[in-house]
Amino acid sequence: MYKCELIYRLRKPSTMSRILLSGGQVYDPASKTFSRADVAISHGLVEAIGTDLEVSDEHIDAEGQYIAPGFIDMHCHVFNHPLFQTSRLEADRIGVRQGVACVVDTGSAGPTTIDAFETFVRDTQHTHAYALCNIGSPGLPGIDGGHASRPELVSLSGTVKAIERHPDWILGVKVLASSSHTGGLGIEAVRIGRKAAALTGKPLMVHIGNAPPVIEEILELLRPGDIVTHSYHGKVGGVLGYGGTVIPEFRDAVDRGVIVDIAHGRSSFSFDTCAAALDQGMPVHTISSDLHGGNLNRYVVSLARTMSKFRLLGLSLEDTVYAVTCKPAATLAIPNQGTLEVGQPANLTVFAETDRAVEVEDAEGVVRTTSAWIEPHLTIVNGQVHSVSETL
Ligand SMILES: [Zn+2]
Repeated sequence: MYKCELIYRLRKPSTMSRILLSGGQVYDPASKTFSRADVAISHGLVEAIGTDLEVSDEHIDAEGQYIAPGFIDMHCHVFNHPLFQTSRLEADRIGVRQGVACVVDTGSAGPTTIDAFETFVRDTQHTHAYALCNIGSPGLPGIDGGHASRPELVSLSGTVKAIERHPDWILGVKVLASSSHTGGLGIEAVRIGRKAAALTGKPLMVHIGNAPPVIEEILELLRPGDIVTHSYHGKVGGVLGYGGTVIPEFRDAVDRGVIVDIAHGRSSFSFDTCAAALDQGMPVHTISSDLHGGNLNRYVVSLARTMSKFRLLGLSLEDTVYAVTCKPAATLAIPNQGTLEVGQPANLTVFAETDRAVEVEDAEGVVRTTSAWIEPHLTIVNGQVHSVSETL
């Protein structure tokens, strides 16, 4: 029997009308702090947050656990179209089954394929799902991408029209600005992406990797609110330049409000690069996984595992949670996410943090051992409770 079916028979998503989560440490996004409280959920909304709340139809003991806004993975690949199946995952596989309430597919689909995102993802999954539109017409049909930003496939008008068709769930524009994707287009791909973003009023997310185009040229084109993804990869010519020192163009981009996203992936996160950047005062704004079929079983595995790697690098639990909740929600203007307020839709993650020693690997094959292991237990989406049921 298929593993997921078995798990769903063991525990179906709960749809009880009123749920009380008692005794947990509840995250307050405004102050970035946890404090002990109960949370009552009724008809899909947060009904009350306080102490000694009235008992409900369903009672969940959250003693010793944390209750946060639902985790958001703002860079992953869940466009589960039949033509794309070798590389794409079901949103629920890395979403509600791993403690993530909301996923953003970053450019798996482009102008000619993105309409199907509604049918193949949004209409069929419990996890909230949004997309960024690739400027390359087909998106990324193969596991290695390979041609996303090639001149003959890039379509400025197609990208703008796609976003105009689906302004509610296409949250921005995606450009893969590395030699393996742009072909002869080079830096022009970023200019086209920036133009599509300007015409639609959405942010631009730029994938950085192997030059050309060189990172200095890319960063200079980005505006406040745009996103650099794979920021701390370990390849030559990244944010540390060639000498281990943060390049001035990256520092300037951060200073003017460009967002630093992680997108761990199979080849895009280095403990050493990230540690050096943090030492030099650079931020981690948003933590994301870049999960797809090629890194689910090794390197990345889950967003929670990626978060634990940042605890290892010295981020506080509060900042780590902020980087998967409020910050991505604000960066991409995702409705009803990143909040934990009375009257709002109940999108929550219930998790524990233990001192479990787990060996974790970056995308360079460097292994370190955690002492703060983040372990989601429940994902609540519009008040519906899902047990975490996959390896983290
Ligand atoms: Zn990606």
